[in-house]
Amino acid sequence: MSLRFDHVTLGQRVRFGAGCASAAVADEVRRLDARLVMLIAGEDEREIAETVVREIDVATWFDRVVQHVPVALADEATELATRMGIDLIVTVGGGSTTGLAKAIALTTGIPIVAVPTTYAGSEATNVWGLTEAERKTTGVDDRVLPVAVVYDPDLTLSLPVGLSVASGLNGIAHCVDSMWAPRADPINRALAIEGTRAVAAGLRAIVVDSQDADGRASALYGAYLSAVAFASAGSGMHHKICHVLGGTFDLPHAPTHAVVLPYVTAFNSGAVPEAAARIGEALGATDALEGLESLSRDTGAPRSLRELGMPEDGVPLAAELALAAIPESNPRTVTDESLRRLLFAAWSGSPARDLVEESTAGGNAS
Ligand code: NAD
Repeated sequence: MSLRFDHVTLGQRVRFGAGCASAAVADEVRRLDARLVMLIAGEDEREIAETVVREIDVATWFDRVVQHVPVALADEATELATRMGIDLIVTVGGGSTTGLAKAIALTTGIPIVAVPTTYAGSEATNVWGLTEAERKTTGVDDRVLPVAVVYDPDLTLSLPVGLSVASGLNGIAHCVDSMWAPRADPINRALAIEGTRAVAAGLRAIVVDSQDADGRASALYGAYLSAVAFASAGSGMHHKICHVLGGTFDLPHAPTHAVVLPYVTAFNSGAVPEAAARIGEALGATDALEGLESLSRDTGAPRSLRELGMPEDGVPLAAELALAAIPESNPRTVTDESLRRLLFAAWSGSPARDLVEESTAGGNAS
């Protein structure tokens, strides 16, 4: 089989190192010749943010951060940035914080230097998301890609173990979905496999000792790779489902990914055995599902959408909305009925492996 593909690599500067944040951010502000910096960091990340910006002047600090970026909040922050003539945004926080900066950049083009404190990976993608009237809209625009990312694993030491696990599984979800997403290619698959290995190794260390510096570094390095893979491969079935769940039922982003991932993996893996085997190997298991289930079990990840607050009668609506968004290139054909079954299983936390058996027995994999 000849190797043939088109691959796009997004351009951004990446700086990585424990304890590097404040000096690296100051370097970036100088390099970009920024005069008026807007800092976006939520009230909960105030202490971390104060250490990160101690070597720069901050013209204004926007400290209201809301998950899934409500349009009204984005408009308010954009109006402030425009009125003040802000020429650089520095973010310190998780995906919600980066997401707010991206919403500003989408309409103003103001560059972003992102300092992530979770494993969500938004900082390495050109994907934006906004929520209005319980519907989340996402899109792709190179203007929202941060020009530089400063990864300092020390900033993640305070992320509670439960959030670390869910966030890391969000990273692994980027990797797994990248194996069959619309623009999956050998490069983003290679990044996804290494990302899976690194995040899983990191999470296993973090649950033993939340202050394990090597574990934190491994998880953050893997989170970056996972996001690069995702940005390049595009959104697959898993992400389309999670976007619907997050936007429609206001479910917490990372735990939702953690719950849904084994179900989508079970659903698809019979149709893509090579990808499933590679993910399994990266997780130290014989197949992807076994690897994900043992990682979830060992790290105490959430197991059902019910426990995250999704109403049972939301399943049909979620299936209807997700079905319209799932790419036609998904390796296994998706129907309203199969999606309802998958979502109901994820809602109740019933064994994901049942969906694999259906996949093999049903024979509707394309
Ligand atoms: P988040 O940013 O909402 O943070 C979750 C919680 O963790 C918050 O309460 C926050 O205060 C806390 N927190 C963050 N860092 C901490 C730290 N170091 N110590 C202690 N607490 C800390 O959650 P998230 O999962 O990082 O991001 C979710 C959002 O990001 C969603 O809106 C999602 O859609 C978006 N996202 C976008 C992309 C993309 O490519 N556009 C990728 C991934 C996620």
